[in-house]
Amino acid sequence: MMAPGIHVVWFKRDLRTRDHEPLQRALQRASLSGGRVLLLQMYEPGMLVHPTTSSRHVTFQWACGDDVAMTLQQEKWGLTFHRVHAPVLDVLDYLRMKHGIASLYSHEETGVLWTYERDKKVASWCKKHGVPWCEVAQAGVQRGRSSRIGWVESWHDNMARPCANPDLQEWRSSEGRDANVTWPENWALNAAPTVRHESDLQGVGPFQPGGERAGHSYLKSFLHEGRIQAYQKHISKPELSRRSCSRISPYLAWGAMTIRQVYQALESTVQGRNHHAFGSRLRWHCHFIQKFESEHALEWRNVNRAYDELPVKQNEEWLSRWKEGTTGIPLVDACMRAVRETGYLNFRMRAMLVSFLTHHMNHSWQDGVEHLARCFLDFEPGIHYSQFQMQAGVTGINTVRIYNPVKQGQEHDPEGHFVRAWVPELKDVSPEWIHSPWMAPPMEATMQGWSSQDYPEPMLDLVASAREARERMWSFRKRPEVKNEGRRILARHVVPPRAQTKGRMREL
Ligand SMILES: Cc1cc2nc3c(=O)[nH]c(=O)nc-3n(C[C@H](O)[C@H](O)[C@H](O)COP(=O)(O)OP(=O)(O)OC[C@H]3O[C@@H](n4cnc5c(N)ncnc54)[C@H](O)[C@@H]3O)c2cc1C
Repeated sequence: MMAPGIHVVWFKRDLRTRDHEPLQRALQRASLSGGRVLLLQMYEPGMLVHPTTSSRHVTFQWACGDDVAMTLQQEKWGLTFHRVHAPVLDVLDYLRMKHGIASLYSHEETGVLWTYERDKKVASWCKKHGVPWCEVAQAGVQRGRSSRIGWVESWHDNMARPCANPDLQEWRSSEGRDANVTWPENWALNAAPTVRHESDLQGVGPFQPGGERAGHSYLKSFLHEGRIQAYQKHISKPELSRRSCSRISPYLAWGAMTIRQVYQALESTVQGRNHHAFGSRLRWHCHFIQKFESEHALEWRNVNRAYDELPVKQNEEWLSRWKEGTTGIPLVDACMRAVRETGYLNFRMRAMLVSFLTHHMNHSWQDGVEHLARCFLDFEPGIHYSQFQMQAGVTGINTVRIYNPVKQGQEHDPEGHFVRAWVPELKDVSPEWIHSPWMAPPMEATMQGWSSQDYPEPMLDLVASAREARERMWSFRKRPEVKNEGRRILARHVVPPRAQTKGRMREL
């Protein structure tokens, strides 16, 4: 008779050792029933060629895995962290044949269509082979919800629950429980695998370092070493936000830390205005992922189907210039170059890039969504697709915002430090003209060292294109089909009116 088999903990976007319920449960189960445990992360070939994947994501995940491995070693867990390069079903087949699988543990993943389809195949495989798959909800997101009634309350309950930390004392006192698995040679990995399709994005960094430790150290310096003090003041500033915002998003996105851990750390500090603003955003994080969990078609089609009729352009030259940061509009170019190179951009500037793409350029949001997913180190499908659609104005329930990049620059980068850092062609231009060098009188422009040979004229007329966008978006918004769809969206994704909101529908 075959041995009872191993308990496999499948690490997905949850690359950590603390507040990890699948890990906690697997260790408990093995301690009680005597089975062996395998901690496993899979770099799946299909995901490595996915249009949203970039090498910065894979390198970050790899560093998170290194950190997990280091914790296991330092804390003497007696377990190894395994990383293989192979499709999940092949790996499961291999493990079943060689060792037998007693159970599979993982978090529920609110991912792109590719991972959703993959998980459906894993579920069938488990059913076919009689392997129980224990899938645990990520804190703050609930599968199978059809409305938002009671969502906020249950979110707070969830956040206040104790973190699911494995009981190491109990675990260590049990005998050696490592599954001791060896892998076929062509699956083994010594370094992060390569992302081959990445021809249009060669970011050089420096990127934020991956890992549980790095994530908690960003959080600590934000909450306890003063960075939070200027949070609200700097949140919309492209340069200052890099220090005054928490910068925890990649750690949350790849699961090196959890929203619950952050919430509890925040609760234990003295609260003020900045703390409150930051706390709301933790809830927004889950709100957007919940939206995507309930309607994953957001990945490829307009949430408000009536916008399928919106006329859009297809100007390949403009699109390449937007992606490369050579539109001739300084703030747009600085933002794109900064995010390509460092993987980070604050909220307001992300919104402005999407507004420029969809409103000024009149392209569909689908034309830019994968490019920025690859650029953002913190790519989180649930937030990314929902935010893209909101900023593109195709939800029919949110205010349409058409950002003027010159005005945004004057307000949030008045001296032009950010623009000069990322668009060195403009390094000698004075603050007066830095956000609109083409408006400078010719003599002055030459004296300041700006010439359209070094840095191009704007590729479009900002004023005329914004006016056209306003007309297009507002006339569309009045259509009965848009309003009908809007009502459906509100019923599904929005918290219903409450007494304290005076009957208004709220996003959260
Ligand atoms: C077009 C567009 C795409 C975006 N794509 C992503 C994405 O792929 N991944 C991602 O994490 N965020 C995304 N955001 C939201 C936001 O810009 C980032 O979360 C934020 O800039 C990350 O920086 P921070 O960690 O310093 O944020 P902080 O301001 O310090 O906020 C703390 C955390 O709250 C959450 N948060 C903050 N703002 C928002 C928001 N507006 N919506 C939802 N959650 C929020 C994030 O998890 C963030 O890490 C996107 C925004 C836009 C406009």
